[in-house]
Amino acid sequence: MRLKKIIFLLIILSCCNDKNESLCLINCGENESSNITISLDIYKKIYGTSSEIYIENGYVYINTTGVPDHKSPYFENTIWENEKYEEYDNSNPYVENFRLNPNRISELDIRFKIPNSPSKSNINQPTSMGPIGVSLNGVPFYNQYAGGGSPLTNEINSFDQYNGHPAPIGPGQENGSNGRYHYHMEPFWLSTNYGSDALMGFLLDGYPVYGPKENGKDLRSSDLDEYHGHIHETKDFPNGIYHYHITNDDPYINGSGYYGIPGTVTN
Ligand SMILES: [Zn+2]
Ligand SMILES: [Zn+2]
Repeated sequence: MRLKKIIFLLIILSCCNDKNESLCLINCGENESSNITISLDIYKKIYGTSSEIYIENGYVYINTTGVPDHKSPYFENTIWENEKYEEYDNSNPYVENFRLNPNRISELDIRFKIPNSPSKSNINQPTSMGPIGVSLNGVPFYNQYAGGGSPLTNEINSFDQYNGHPAPIGPGQENGSNGRYHYHMEPFWLSTNYGSDALMGFLLDGYPVYGPKENGKDLRSSDLDEYHGHIHETKDFPNGIYHYHITNDDPYINGSGYYGIPGTVTN
């Protein structure tokens, strides 16, 4: 009897070392996400692109202009003003004292090259300033820091009603120049349109980013690992995948670096 139990356990354990996920009887953690290759159909949920999304030699290529498809006070004095300018409407719950920053939205040429078969990294590279991922409407995700690695506290007061804001294009061009629009936190336009539990985009390491809700519950950073994610099945990935969640508490999108090996972005 005992021997039978041991043999059974051995079978389970050997199955979990097997690359074949369907043989895996208990939660096999990393194995669930290490073999995944993401289909073009799922990437095509990213609708804010400036050219066709394509996959080549293990990478998916996603190009965007970074111009949001929603309104913003940061369209003031831009070529889109008539159609897309909207005064700040006091609806952003994170903003205490809204102040429009001097930058305005501009059209960029952001090129994401992201691993098509994301895999866990042993190094867990930190995120850098600038785009760390792409959201469904083509606006980039940024990390949890303002310039110089300081917390976002003050910057949050310049977030518009859709929770984004533009940064200067580069040093020395700060005053009144056009800027790079981005999200450090939940993109309200997407969570309102697609649901707080929906796929919101991808980080540079190829792992998907979901909204704050899961099974009807708002997740907190403490529900997630140090990179701000966890592994289980999702609507888009029924076999399970590592994924990030956006939460309402700091660090919002990513924790201490990429879970996987990041691709590159030029902008
Ligand atoms: Zn910012
Ligand atoms: Zn989850």
